[in-house]
Amino acid sequence: MLTHRNTYLVLALLLVIWLTARFFLQMDISAWWLVLIPLIYIPLCVWGAIKVQANFFLPSLSQANTQEKVVALSFDDGPLPEFTPVILDILKEEEVKAGFFCIGKNIPENEDLLERIHAEGHVIGNHSWSHDFWFDLYSRRRMMIDMDTMEDQMLNVLDLKPRMFRPPYGVTNPNLATAIKLQKVKSIGWSIRSMDTVAKDEEKLLQHILSQLHPGAIILLHDTCKITADILPRLIAGIRERGYRFDRIDKLLNISAYA
Ligand SMILES: [Zn+2]
Repeated sequence: MLTHRNTYLVLALLLVIWLTARFFLQMDISAWWLVLIPLIYIPLCVWGAIKVQANFFLPSLSQANTQEKVVALSFDDGPLPEFTPVILDILKEEEVKAGFFCIGKNIPENEDLLERIHAEGHVIGNHSWSHDFWFDLYSRRRMMIDMDTMEDQMLNVLDLKPRMFRPPYGVTNPNLATAIKLQKVKSIGWSIRSMDTVAKDEEKLLQHILSQLHPGAIILLHDTCKITADILPRLIAGIRERGYRFDRIDKLLNISAYA
C-alpha cells in the first residue's frame, strides 16, 4: 500500500543500496541517482497531504464499503447563525439526518445551534477549535490542544465527547497522524467534494455533485454557504430520484460518533 511509511522505507532502502554499491562494492555509480529520492518523496508527500482519501499519512474513513445505494451528507465549518438554521430547517422538512463537523471557536454564542443540531438527530464531529490556516504547520502538541479545546466546548454544551475528527482543509501530515492516534479519534474524509465554497452557479454545483454519486458516498458540504442552502432541497430530491437513500454518517460508516 502506498503510505508515507512504506515510501520512506523503500527510499531509505534505495539509499542504503546506493551507499553499499558506491562505497562498499566500489562501483562506479553516479551520485545523480540520489536526486531521485527527493524527486519521488516530495511530490508523493504533497499528494498525500492534500488527498485525504489516499490514506497516505493516516487512515481516514472517506466512504462506506457497500454496494447499496446509500449516501451521507456532511456539513463543515458551522455552527453559524446565517445558514446553519436554514440548512437544519431543510433537513427537518426532508427528514434527512446529517453529520456536522463544527469549528470549536464558532460554538460560543451559538450554543443554541449546537444543541439544535444534536436535538434534531444529527451528529457532531470535531473540525478543530481554530480551523487556523496554518493548522497543518502546528506541532503535534499544539494540534492536540486545539482539538481538546473543541472537545471541551462539546462537553460543556452537550456533555458529549466527539470521536469523529475531520482535518481542517482535509490536509493530513505526520504530526496530525500522531495527534489523531493519541486523541483516539477517527479521521473522517469524504468521497465527493462539492466545492460549494467556491461555486457560483447552482445548476453546475448540483450536477457536479450528482454526477459523482456512488454507493457509500460521503458528500462534503458547508453550512456556511448561501449556495449550499439554496440548492439543498434540489440536491436531496436529485439524490433520491437516482434511487439513493440517506444515512447518518456514523451509521453509514458503522462507527460511534461519541465516546
Ligand atoms: Zn473546514
